[in-house]
Amino acid sequence: MIVNLLNNNHSYSIQKIKNINEWVPGKLFSIILTKDKNFVFKPGQFTRIGFNIEDDNKNKNIIWRAYSMVSSPDEDDLEFYYVIVPNGQFSKILSKLDTNQTVFIRKQSFGFLTIDQFQKNTDNLWLMATGTGISAYISILKDKKTWDRFKKIILVHSVRKTEELTYQTIINKIKAEQYNIGNVLNYIPVTTKENAQFLLHERLPIIIENGALEETAKEKLDYKSSSVMLCGNPEMLLDVRGILIERGFATKTSDNVKNLVMENYW
Ligand code: NAP
Repeated sequence: MIVNLLNNNHSYSIQKIKNINEWVPGKLFSIILTKDKNFVFKPGQFTRIGFNIEDDNKNKNIIWRAYSMVSSPDEDDLEFYYVIVPNGQFSKILSKLDTNQTVFIRKQSFGFLTIDQFQKNTDNLWLMATGTGISAYISILKDKKTWDRFKKIILVHSVRKTEELTYQTIINKIKAEQYNIGNVLNYIPVTTKENAQFLLHERLPIIIENGALEETAKEKLDYKSSSVMLCGNPEMLLDVRGILIERGFATKTSDNVKNLVMENYW
């Protein structure tokens, strides 16, 4: 009753942690939470999650950070994926979470890393992420509307080590489901700090410029046939954006052919 009253009166709802996955010990985690039935979002969007903290004078405040939804809008639960940043104020809280703990979730969702931002249909869609930037793409890949628009999707995930190549079970499941109905999900992992066999090992701007990514994908990264999403490290976004704009991709709605959209992950 009290929780319901609070949920109605605030710009946030109060939810509970149902489960915590520890993907890489002490570093990469995801939490599964209950969801407010009125919470609406588009795949690829983010919201803010918050926790109570006490300042030096013992006053309670809520500290907020933005995270993309990993879950799809039609799932009953909410999922968020995060990295523990050494000495980070929010990470300190995230590293000590427990099941049944309450979490504040903003009722509003934000962001333009959504497929409705693309102004034209293209033959394929490239989803490029570094690190936890893959969060948004899992939600996008789970959504039927994505596959109604794009029959071939190339998911590129750049991480430091193989152990950080998370969400492979769900990626393979989506790949098999889509294959059965004639669609293609091409998953291209990249490990930059580990020389894993058969994988690409250099940063995204390098493998785009030297052609290794297109060769692995067996697909041209071409502005006429491709739409591209970028999510993750802000410097990666800047570099890849520059390369793609040189190749004819457009980020502005006014260009009428907007086929490149992106989101900084921090
Ligand atoms: P990361 O260190 O950014 O590494 C993930 C991948 O991105 C690696 O393959 C890395 O390659 C590549 N990369 C890094 N900088 C790049 C650049 N300028 N251009 C192209 N590729 C680049 O990601 P992470 O391990 O997920 O996150 C670690 C750090 O990210 C944290 O310590 C924190 O600073 C930041 N972060 C913060 C938040 C937040 O505050 N909410 C959220 C997520 C991440 P290399 O191995 O060659 O570097």
